[in-house]
Amino acid sequence: MSFTLAIVGRPNVGKSTLFNRLVGKKLALVDDQPGVTRDLREGEARLADLRFTVIDTAGLEDATDDSLQGRMRRLTERAVEMADICLFMIDARAGVTPLDEMFADILRKKSANVVLAANKGEGAAADAGVIEAYNLGLGEPIRLSAEHGEGLNDLYTQLMPLADQFEAQAVQDTPETDVDLDEDDDDDEENYTVPVPTTAKPLQVAVVGRPNAGKSTLINQILGEERLLTGPEAGITRDAISLRMEWDGVPMRIFDTAGMRKKAKVQEKLEKLSVSDGLRAVKFAEVVVVLLDADIPFEQQDLRIADLAEREGRAVVVAVNKWDIEENKQDKLRDLKESFTRLLPQLRGAPLITVSAKTGRGLDRLQQAIMRAHDVWNRRVPTAALNRWLIGMLEQHPPPAPQGKRIKLRYMTQAKTRPPGFVVMCSHPDKMPESYKRYLVNGLRQDFDMPGTPIRLTLRSQN
Ligand code: GDP
Ligand code: GDP
Repeated sequence: MSFTLAIVGRPNVGKSTLFNRLVGKKLALVDDQPGVTRDLREGEARLADLRFTVIDTAGLEDATDDSLQGRMRRLTERAVEMADICLFMIDARAGVTPLDEMFADILRKKSANVVLAANKGEGAAADAGVIEAYNLGLGEPIRLSAEHGEGLNDLYTQLMPLADQFEAQAVQDTPETDVDLDEDDDDDEENYTVPVPTTAKPLQVAVVGRPNAGKSTLINQILGEERLLTGPEAGITRDAISLRMEWDGVPMRIFDTAGMRKKAKVQEKLEKLSVSDGLRAVKFAEVVVVLLDADIPFEQQDLRIADLAEREGRAVVVAVNKWDIEENKQDKLRDLKESFTRLLPQLRGAPLITVSAKTGRGLDRLQQAIMRAHDVWNRRVPTAALNRWLIGMLEQHPPPAPQGKRIKLRYMTQAKTRPPGFVVMCSHPDKMPESYKRYLVNGLRQDFDMPGTPIRLTLRSQN
């Protein structure tokens, strides 16, 4: 069962560019009839293990100005009727225009499932536009660069739960569903210190680690305890193997890089393959479980994948496996913690859980840690609280004054979640030393209880 995605938005924002990227070279021009659909292009899209139909509503370039708006409205409404999900695209460099607002109005009224994308998102020139996009009231924008292929992982992250929902609908064959489609859990805003398993959407987890760390054993152990919802899914080729399951009542989609490797059966390429599989899995996960072998922890390959997960902005949980055969558990744990701090300072505060995939011991704690990491990764700190906090931080430790001119930090807001990203408006952002940024990031982590998630901090100029 797949779904239909319509890409809508005003001309020139990059709809066709994204369409082409999703469909690849071979375009299927399926509808050549006169009328409105003449402007609609349809193709079969692939995004990792997702297969869906995509409709492009571009093709209005030669419309005259006065008819443009009307045609665009009709075309959009038509596309919305045909599609299960609408991807509404704006140009992040241009910011939100009145025409964009018109589209947003239509979509708010007509479509239940809207995914908002701020395209041309590469580079700092897009920062302001991405933030403006929040004002459209369509949830968190995905920062995309259709041209450079950036942000597709975030697109996938937003589409996956919706895709799951359509699958579930097809299976149940009922129009009713209690899957929560509300991407933003804004109503939980004030609860930012409480871990909440927020929705019924499957939480996307990748289990990565060196060959023989115990990935397959771990996943089998989880599966052995739980009901498998859908098996290794049909139609999935080498991109990823994901398993839908419930783990202690929590729906999850687990990317099984080991299974993929075993399926490929290319023993001599084993090492290489498992690295690239790991990379792919990291891109599509919300939480990455780095599984270490207690006997040989923190090998080069483990460090590389953990670092990648951080750079990709994923929440990370480190699990040390084969704890059952560890004899001197206390000393070992102390060593592990020390190595962790030293070798992976960028993952400060991330949980380290000891498990035995073989016996199942510690898996409940692992599951808790995954949920908590996911919660922190999704956390939104209210703007008022942030600014109160900022005042305190500035008083405690004023920003530096290069060449006698004090850098002024005026205002702060959380521009995104997954992972949390903050923007500070300030004078002379280019003069701000890294150490002061670190002071703020570490403060945020501590004061708002956000351990183990990457935190992004952007400074923007405002005098
Ligand atoms: P459409 O009218 O919405 O279908 O827009 P197009 O896909 O035709 O793109 C309009 C223009 O924007 C083209 O020149 C594209 O090359 C350019 N464009 C599309 N995506 C991006 C992007 O991510 N970054 C930048 N800088 N340009 C883009
Ligand atoms: P993968 O390559 O990461 O998928 O690793 P496997 O799951 O195939 O496990 C590699 C080997 O480690 C197998 O012989 C497993 O039986 C063993 N193993 C996995 N987990 C544990 C564990 O928790 N304790 C012990 N003692 N052995 C384990």
